[in-house]
Amino acid sequence: MVNEWDATVRKRFTIAHELGHYVLHLHQDPNGFPDDRVDYKRTLFDGRTHKPEEEANRYAAALLMPAPILGKILLRGDNNVHDLLGMFGVSEEALSIRLNKLRRRPELLYEIQ
Ligand SMILES: [Zn+2]
Repeated sequence: MVNEWDATVRKRFTIAHELGHYVLHLHQDPNGFPDDRVDYKRTLFDGRTHKPEEEANRYAAALLMPAPILGKILLRGDNNVHDLLGMFGVSEEALSIRLNKLRRRPELLYEIQ
C-alpha cells in the first residue's frame, strides 16, 4: 500500500495500481483484493509477474500516462525525458516501461482525438 516515506511518483503509481485492482478485480473477491508491497515491487522490477498485479500495473500506467496524450506529445517532438517525467508525475522506470510497451503497440499512440 502507500508508504508515507515513498517519493510522490511512487505514491501516485501505487494509488493508481490499487485503483486498478478495485476496477478490474473487485468482482473476483467482494471482500477486497489483498495487496502486498513485496509482490507489487517484485512484479515491477524483476520481470516475474502475477496476472492481477500485471493488470493493475498496466491500468496504473494507462491512467497516469494515457497513450493518446503521450502520443500527441511525442509526435510534437517533445521527447525530453525530464519534461515527460514532470508532465506525467511518474518515475523514470514507469515511463520507460510505458514507452517500451507503446512501441510494441504503436497503434495506441495514434488514437489521438
Ligand atoms: Zn497489486
